Amino acid sequence: MPICQNCGEKWSWKQTFKTIFRLKCPYCGKKQYESASSRTKSGAFMLIPLVLLPINAWFEFSVGTVLLLATPLFLITFGLYPFILKLSNEIEPYW
Ligand SMILES: [Zn+2]
Repeated sequence: MPICQNCGEKWSWKQTFKTIFRLKCPYCGKKQYESASSRTKSGAFMLIPLVLLPINAWFEFSVGTVLLLATPLFLITFGLYPFILKLSNEIEPYW
């Protein structure tokens, strides 16, 4: 779970999820940024649903089947995101 780099409070899953697009600390109200290492990880994480593509080509699923499979996978990925999120006080460059 992410820890606010300003006040040191740990965010709960629910709190993180609520502010997932803004990343504003629910305790001190300070804007937080995703750290560079976390961004790399979450970037790879968000690619998980893409593993469906070759599987799809292999089995020749219909679009409806793919959506049916991709939706829960996407939700799981999204739901696990607060667990890998690490915060930073400033925008960190990728390199
Ligand atoms: Zn805070």
